[in-house]
Amino acid sequence: MKRLSGRAAARGAALAPAALLHSAEVTTDADPSGPPDEERRRLEDALARAAQQLHGLAEQVTADVGTEEGEIFEAHAAFAQDPELGGRAKELIDEGASAEAAVTAAFDGFRELLAASDSEYLSARAADLDDVRDRALTLLVGRSVEVDVPDEPSVIVAHELTPSQTASIPRRVIAALVTETGSPTSHAAILARSLGVPAVVGVAGIVELLDDGSQLAVDGDAGEVVIDPDEDARTEIEERVAEAERRRAELEELRDEPGCTADGHRIELAANIGGDADLELAATTGAEGSGLVRTEFLYLDRDDAPNVDEQAAFVEKALTAFPGHRVVVRTLDVGADKPLPFVERDPEPNPALGLRGIRLSLADPDAFREQLRAFLRGQEAAGDRAGQLAIMFPLLSVPSELTEARCHLDEVANEEHAELDGVEVGVMIETPAAALAAGQFAAGCDFLSIGTNDLLQYLFAADRLNAEVATLADAAAPVVLRLIGEVVRAAHSEGAWVGVCGEAASDPALAVALVGLGVDELSMTAAAIPEIKATLRSVTRDDCRTATERAMAQPDAATARDVLGAPPVS
Ligand code: PEP
Ligand code: MG
Repeated sequence: MKRLSGRAAARGAALAPAALLHSAEVTTDADPSGPPDEERRRLEDALARAAQQLHGLAEQVTADVGTEEGEIFEAHAAFAQDPELGGRAKELIDEGASAEAAVTAAFDGFRELLAASDSEYLSARAADLDDVRDRALTLLVGRSVEVDVPDEPSVIVAHELTPSQTASIPRRVIAALVTETGSPTSHAAILARSLGVPAVVGVAGIVELLDDGSQLAVDGDAGEVVIDPDEDARTEIEERVAEAERRRAELEELRDEPGCTADGHRIELAANIGGDADLELAATTGAEGSGLVRTEFLYLDRDDAPNVDEQAAFVEKALTAFPGHRVVVRTLDVGADKPLPFVERDPEPNPALGLRGIRLSLADPDAFREQLRAFLRGQEAAGDRAGQLAIMFPLLSVPSELTEARCHLDEVANEEHAELDGVEVGVMIETPAAALAAGQFAAGCDFLSIGTNDLLQYLFAADRLNAEVATLADAAAPVVLRLIGEVVRAAHSEGAWVGVCGEAASDPALAVALVGLGVDELSMTAAAIPEIKATLRSVTRDDCRTATERAMAQPDAATARDVLGAPPVS
């Protein structure tokens, strides 16, 4: 038995065999994408990043598991930095090879030498070389793992999972998700929560430690994974599974009640929607509309862009799922950790700070207008008995982006002869610049929706995909609460309402704080709605305000969380 810790990413417990996702075969016979200088730069960059990742992994594994296991990764890092290996790859590039082909040939050449060695130790290192080669190749071509779908419910374990990989595994075989990288706000974690399966991320070194057929006990609340649990650990996790089932039945009774505090202050509790599975789940958990329809999921798992009709059909379906409620559909939010497989783009040095969200849409107005057209057609097709369309733009940093986006919307509405009167328009507050200019944004639209996932990443300069820095970014931090309080004040003074659609909305302690700060709507993974509803119905609005005031006066996120976790119940 081995107990490993990571970060809790989706609540719940599971006991099931592990199913490991392996790295994909990368095509290495591709022509060079640029001149040798450019290929050399790509090679150096990939090897440096591989070494950096491996040093980080070594440190974590040493701390979490032991020195001996940590050394495995230090040895891997040494391969990535080996001057002879790197030198051989560069020679091959100078002879006309692509960076991918050069890495493959250089590593495979060394592998043969090692494998032929009489020393057992050296020949065992051959497999390590393959691991480092695959890591470098993965960095060169972008993230990729092959999805080998298991037959029975299993704990899916991977170094890293992209949203489309997660989405391509059928829900019925996912007992839980465990990754070596990522943070609770990475998209794989969000998907786990929306699937309603437990998840633990940032479990350093687990892939190396698993054998075929290992049993795993996953605790998505504590952020713990036990490999081959003994009798006691099994009993403990089985009890947790049964307890979660009992709580689910209790919450089910609140399903048709509205979201409000104990003293009747109304808070809309809406669902974040990423695809059909979310719509089905939302229908069973009492969601009051959607505060975020992530349209990008329509684009991710395919080879070409969806056409207007396909997009309109999805919007129609989303609207029809929530009669009498508002459905906030967000324009395409890709780039950074959500690359589009069918769009060839030069790699950006800092994708999270690059052409993503509304920036990408404004850079490609034709595609943007197609999408807006699809929204309006989807609403037209859904008719009066469906929910009410609201349109939201992601990742704005300056108010002129809103002006420009609205201009496109007005023009498209004109072309479509569509009325925009009943269509609310909103902006996501995801960058510090937008948060600080909330009043200006609110003056130009109907609502602001705070995307805490990205707002935290930019506020704390902590990559949401990097487990090593993810703990810095906590929405309970007093600075975050103060900033959200300012956004709400500025928006309300302009007559705009404020929602929160980042993961903070699905955390009971933070939901109390957000209500205390005056937020009007919380949108979250549908699976979290019952728990949040029960929490808010057990406290008054004043309880929330008092707890939030006390939290904001704390020195850090941990103490603020303690205060919020136990709001005074009047
Ligand atoms: C956010 O950033 O909080 C958000 C809701 O958007 P996404 O997670 O899709 O980036
Ligand atoms: Mg975001």
